[in-house]
Amino acid sequence: MKILCIASEAAPYVKTGGLGDVMGALPRALAGLGHDVRIVLPFYSQINPEIYRTELLMDRIEIWLPAGGKTVSVWQLHDPKNPIPVYLIKSDELFDRPSLYDEGGREYADNPLRFAYFCLSVFWMLKGLQWFPDIFHCHDWQAGMVPTYLKNLEVLKNDPDFAHSKTLLTIHNLAYQGACSPEFLPLIGLPQRLFNLKELEFFGKLNLLKGGIVYSDRLSTVSRRYAGEIQTADFGCGLEGILRARSKHLHGIMNGIDTDVWNPETDPYIPAHYDAENPSGKEACKAELQSRFGLPVNPHAPVAGIVSRLVEQKGLDLISETIHPIIEMGIQFVLLGTGMEKYQRYFRLLAKNHPSQMYVEIGYNEPAAHFIEAGCDMLLMPSRFEPCGLTQLYSMRYGTVPIVRQTGGLADSVENSTKPKILSGEATGFTFVDYTPDALLGAVKRAEAVYHDSAEPDLWQHLILNGMSRDHSWHHSAQLYEKLMLEMLK
Ligand code: ADP
Repeated sequence: MKILCIASEAAPYVKTGGLGDVMGALPRALAGLGHDVRIVLPFYSQINPEIYRTELLMDRIEIWLPAGGKTVSVWQLHDPKNPIPVYLIKSDELFDRPSLYDEGGREYADNPLRFAYFCLSVFWMLKGLQWFPDIFHCHDWQAGMVPTYLKNLEVLKNDPDFAHSKTLLTIHNLAYQGACSPEFLPLIGLPQRLFNLKELEFFGKLNLLKGGIVYSDRLSTVSRRYAGEIQTADFGCGLEGILRARSKHLHGIMNGIDTDVWNPETDPYIPAHYDAENPSGKEACKAELQSRFGLPVNPHAPVAGIVSRLVEQKGLDLISETIHPIIEMGIQFVLLGTGMEKYQRYFRLLAKNHPSQMYVEIGYNEPAAHFIEAGCDMLLMPSRFEPCGLTQLYSMRYGTVPIVRQTGGLADSVENSTKPKILSGEATGFTFVDYTPDALLGAVKRAEAVYHDSAEPDLWQHLILNGMSRDHSWHHSAQLYEKLMLEMLK
């Protein structure tokens, strides 16, 4: 199969969260199954020219939309570590900005236009390449206009080059929908008749993700549990009706992890290496973490970490309501994150007031994310909702026990601990159900009790090894995508 992956970020070139990680690994896993897979991204100024060589493939392509004409060029990124062609759509006006999507907590006002030009450019790029995919694999709303254009623009609808192409939209997070003023509809070149409740209208707004949901041949999301949840009012963010209507074509496929990038045996960002057979390097990582972060170097004090975007979704209000009892239990707390100003301010202040029990770093820091996964004993992830979550998968691989709310991909990937379940190898972490401070605190207390269980000092080590021995690689999930794509072409 010829598969074109269209997304707004891909690790390691440019990444803000889990979508980037998936785009860094899934295309490679699909190529490993024998397919011709290629990626297209916007050419952001964040893609470091000193690390990645880029080559101009096509100059001066005119993209016309009623909002105005734009001249873009197509580049290819050459990464000796990645055999997959990575194409970049360049327009400095659109993608040379201080950030990918937003600044100071506010989305760029012209985001619908930026990604409309991006999606439309993809078709002209393919004509230039004379390479026409069997599957357009579109990720999130930023690529969701590809199916909408393909099904609605006369010039594309009747184009024999794309007549056999099918579209798959993968939703990585339903909370981000590209909802905007209906005034954008004519500007992005779509007919007014599409502005109705069955197509692009959403409570008086234009909703670009909804277009992708309506016009894609198939839909998927990133865990089985989340695929069910988003068809309910509690998790559907207003799109549950339209998702239920497409239920037959909506699949839940759990994300995998890049086991080369996230590997405690070889990770260049951690001070000592280890694996399930020889886990002692983890103790050295913990000692180094405590020392580097100014915490008392004490092997018996559990360290709990968070690596996260600081947004409402991640359950940070629960953390703020439980952090004092948590540190009173003698648990050291480490946080790495960036996002909403109110959380940044809150955690900075908290760390200032408790320097010997907490370390907080506000910012995006890839090496620190790896170091924290390796150096902590526990990872906290009390999300309100979590489509898949990768951080808990990394933590298990790094022998760090996840404490998570039982929702979405967290529910699908973390098995709650009881003593028999730890001993049988089944349990991998601690889960709680209710979105309340008491429920989170209860889970932390259960974890702390196992950590300090003097009658069963090996129990914690068992639990660590249970997580480390799980296979969270892309191997199985890439096969599920392959099966789905093959069915689409039948
Ligand atoms: P989401 O996609 O909602 O952000 P995931 O758990 O799926 O959540 O993926 C988060 C990814 O982003 C992980 O690779 C995590 O290590 C990374 N990450 C999050 N915040 C930071 C940060 N401040 N610095 C470095 N990496 C981060």
